[in-house]
Amino acid sequence: MSEFAIKLAQFEERCRQAGFALTVQRRVVYEAMLQRDDHPTVDQVCETVQERLPEVSRATVYRTLEALVELGVIRRAHHAGTAVRFDSNIHHHHHLICTQCQRIVDFDDARLEGLPMPEPATTGFRVDDYSIHVSGLCADCQAAPSPSSGSEAAPAAP
Ligand SMILES: [Zn+2]
Ligand SMILES: [Zn+2]
Repeated sequence: MSEFAIKLAQFEERCRQAGFALTVQRRVVYEAMLQRDDHPTVDQVCETVQERLPEVSRATVYRTLEALVELGVIRRAHHAGTAVRFDSNIHHHHHLICTQCQRIVDFDDARLEGLPMPEPATTGFRVDDYSIHVSGLCADCQAAPSPSSGSEAAPAAP
């Protein structure tokens, strides 16, 4: 079974457990999230969904993404300053964020698992999860000539 099929089967199981009605729209939105590993915005998910269901509105896609976050099958990728991004990887991981094209790439390194965390005794804070955001320029943006004044740089194709 492909990873896609496994994730889809887990999704169906999760929906059953939660009593979450699995409509065609909801399934297509989740499949769109699995198809894209670029931490898409609502608009990007919408484009992918509308290739299959042209009549689905952006508002419906947004509501569905929010419902999927509630269900725990996707996450918001917290990324200050730009449009909210969604992440189908719900496991502990970190992100490389390109400040030019806004691409977000998953990143993992075992050495990041030994970081000092706030002491519950002194801070009263209970850590559930953490995610490191590393910002910089992706390889494509480093290779591309920097956008000159007057001409708007086109975002890289997914
Ligand atoms: Zn970039
Ligand atoms: Zn991610």
